[in-house]
Amino acid sequence: MTDVVLDGVEKVYPGGQVAVRNVRLRINAGELFVLLGPSGCGKSTLLRMIAGLEEITAGDLWLDGTLANDLPPRERNVAMVFQDGALYPHRTVKGNMMFPLEVAGDDRAEAGAKVTELARALGISAMIDRRPDTLSGGQRQRAAIGRALVREPRLFLMDEPLSSLDAALRTELRIEIAGLVRATGTTTVYVTHDQVEAMTMADRMAVLRDGTVEDVGTPEEIYADPATVFVAAFLSSPPINLLRATLWAVEGEGLVLDFGAQRLSVPWDDPRVSSLISHHGETVIVGIRPDTLAPIAPGSPAPPGTVLSGRVRALEFHGHEWLAYAEAGIPTVDAAEVGRPPAPENRPAPRTGLRDRLRELVGGGGGEEPAEEHEGHHRRTDLVFRIPPGRRPNRGDHCAMRVDLDRVLFFGADGRRVGSPRS
Ligand code: ADP
Repeated sequence: MTDVVLDGVEKVYPGGQVAVRNVRLRINAGELFVLLGPSGCGKSTLLRMIAGLEEITAGDLWLDGTLANDLPPRERNVAMVFQDGALYPHRTVKGNMMFPLEVAGDDRAEAGAKVTELARALGISAMIDRRPDTLSGGQRQRAAIGRALVREPRLFLMDEPLSSLDAALRTELRIEIAGLVRATGTTTVYVTHDQVEAMTMADRMAVLRDGTVEDVGTPEEIYADPATVFVAAFLSSPPINLLRATLWAVEGEGLVLDFGAQRLSVPWDDPRVSSLISHHGETVIVGIRPDTLAPIAPGSPAPPGTVLSGRVRALEFHGHEWLAYAEAGIPTVDAAEVGRPPAPENRPAPRTGLRDRLRELVGGGGGEEPAEEHEGHHRRTDLVFRIPPGRRPNRGDHCAMRVDLDRVLFFGADGRRVGSPRS
């Protein structure tokens, strides 16, 4: 079993495109490690650098304690599976799976037995004598996985291997792949943009954005305790409510989250108060997952500072539940915009006008500027919450929701988590 260490790894493509920035990761021996992030965030580039298919611009790659930056791909003993499997078209499934063993000069009878056993584990025994063009997409991917695993690589790299398959097959294969690589104990790095795939398969995972690692941990750790607004939003389906508030310390009440039209309060004895209090008077981003909001009957008692309300604008039926969208008059933020340096055209223009100079003279500074103008990512949309089937409100109903404050996530205006139990 092999461990992989990436120490300050960077990739700048010849055209100047920075694809990966200062990535520091340790992938433990035997782990199924997932690289998760949106398209273009640098996942494939990182995987290809581990495979030796892409040169590392800066930083070090260590495989089992050996510096591997300049190690040719064939000496790394890694196997890779891509989205489209890429089998040899004129060889049968068995021929494809035998190929790496033939190249290595293995005994034919032993190789044949190994292939037969692996084909059985992959559920493709019945089509072992067929050519790739007679197989379904799922069968082809199984054969490609078989061909990659048959020579017992020390490292198994998979780049979106399921993304061209339909939903039912993806579910079936992800369970099988995870089971198979765990059974063989092969250290595996798996690239995907699909949060469900990442959460269900990973022992640990890294969430990437714009070539940098935003968070690393087990799926449970990252879901419960995301490092940034971006990570919280990427791992939330239905989407997390990201609300903009101003935080005030109020004697006798606690830390008040002032949403303008509504407010919540965090009691003084909440363990997060000690880190939140430094944001007194500042903008914070409050993350509330839909399952953290429980609709309550109108007029039912609830402790003050624990309820948000809105008028139901839209309802969606999802079979096991309804999702409701309520207009609550609360400003929300777009996770894609938070924590990212503003594009040059979005940067506020330098203040040179008479109005600006007057404002400075009378001491207004920048503090009075509304968030809409200053931050460029201020929106006013709905609160999303779940409703069990059979309890559906009607459109236009006024709905009150109890907020489970213990599960609310707090972020600074820069998108970084405040009051994380991990920090
Ligand atoms: P992902 O796998 O997350 O979709 P990639 O690693 O493929 O992302 O790409 C990361 C960034 O690097 C993207 O902006 C992409 O356009 C760029 N990129 C990828 N390959 C090349 C290349 N060969 N030359 C120049 N830029 C590239």
